[in-house]
Amino acid sequence: MRDLVRRVVDEQVRPYVSRWFEEGRAPTRELAKLFGSVGLLGMHLEGYGCAGASAVAYGLTCMELEAGDSGVRSLVSVQGSLAMYAIWRFGSEEQKQQWLPDMAAGTAIGCFGLTEPDHGSDPASMATRAVRDGDDWVLRGSKMWITNAPVADVAVVWARADEGILGFVVPTDAPGVTINEIHHKLSLRASSTGEIVLDDVRLPADAVLPGVRGLKGPLTCLTEARAGIAWGALGAARECLEAAIAYACDREQFGRPIAAFQLTQAKLADMAVELQKGYLLALHIGRRADAGTVTPEQVSVAKLNNVREALAITRQCRTILGANGISLEYPVLRHANNLESVLTYEGTSEIHQLVIGQALTGHSAFA
Ligand SMILES: Cc1cc2nc3c(=O)[nH]c(=O)nc-3n(C[C@H](O)[C@H](O)[C@H](O)COP(=O)(O)OP(=O)(O)OC[C@H]3O[C@@H](n4cnc5c(N)ncnc54)[C@H](O)[C@@H]3O)c2cc1C
Repeated sequence: MRDLVRRVVDEQVRPYVSRWFEEGRAPTRELAKLFGSVGLLGMHLEGYGCAGASAVAYGLTCMELEAGDSGVRSLVSVQGSLAMYAIWRFGSEEQKQQWLPDMAAGTAIGCFGLTEPDHGSDPASMATRAVRDGDDWVLRGSKMWITNAPVADVAVVWARADEGILGFVVPTDAPGVTINEIHHKLSLRASSTGEIVLDDVRLPADAVLPGVRGLKGPLTCLTEARAGIAWGALGAARECLEAAIAYACDREQFGRPIAAFQLTQAKLADMAVELQKGYLLALHIGRRADAGTVTPEQVSVAKLNNVREALAITRQCRTILGANGISLEYPVLRHANNLESVLTYEGTSEIHQLVIGQALTGHSAFA
């Protein structure tokens, strides 16, 4: 799986990704079909055209994709771990039949609407409302910073109803849905991000995800995605470390390769140690997921550590490349900028610290 994805990234992503980043757009629909054709979308799910691969295989896939670009990995994470997983885990048989095979093939793109303009780390306070009108549901509110939204065919939208927080399967062409692309990002520029405005969107009774009620619905999906991110971020770091080693061996100052200076070697050694520690952590979490024993707190440890360390590695690599480190000719600052988003989404570092702190002390310090 690793070799297959590495080849796909080598052939279909690496040659083009700096241009996508520079232009602020990627061929998301074509990439989705490509990734669908090799079985990467919803690959850790069973049935409905999904590959049924292990959590470790999914993690390795995320790592190879993110070695290409975090935006490309985000496409696959949101499609498989958030949108498809929500339908697969909590959807009705009809919803699964309607959406999952097309989403697995990449002919339908999904997004996951939890964050709102005024409610990010605290989704329990969400303002988006779902109100019953006869048999129908009527949704009103807006979702912000939603990956894939501008190209999505379907959105899994979380909204507050009298019964509690519910998930809805919302076709993006439903009357009342408007999607605005978010421009001017300095990070994840090869990923499409948008705002979803829901203006009295009328949905049939069977649009609700019947299998879950409450915040545990979206949080269960986030745990799925965070595990993949803990792997993925290391791919970005690995790519930068490889670029920095190659550059340091090639670049001469003071009459010798900068790789021959002890200070450079100390940086490289420390980065290699952190990268390998992160890899072992991701592998351990992946194996626990495959054994069905991983806990959300353990996934928080992996997401917090691996993204934080990956970002530190990319920034350190940037120093080794000197002025060239800020150029799109090299992957380093692109990856570092991308990881700024990865640090924030799927729970910021602070939120994961609070999750771990609560597990250690028994005290919730969220509010
Ligand atoms: C490129 C990109 C793509 C995204 N894709 C999606 C998507 O597909 N779907 C989706 O639903 N969302 C998505 N998000 C949104 C992301 O999940 C949120 O940005 C994130 O949850 C943080 O919310 P916020 O930006 O509102 O920050 P806030 O919650 O306002 O936080 C701001 C700062 O305050 C800190 N903070 C907040 N609460 C506490 C506390 N109790 N204690 C200590 N510190 C605290 C945070 O850690 C952070 O440092 C995406 C974001 C980005 C940047």
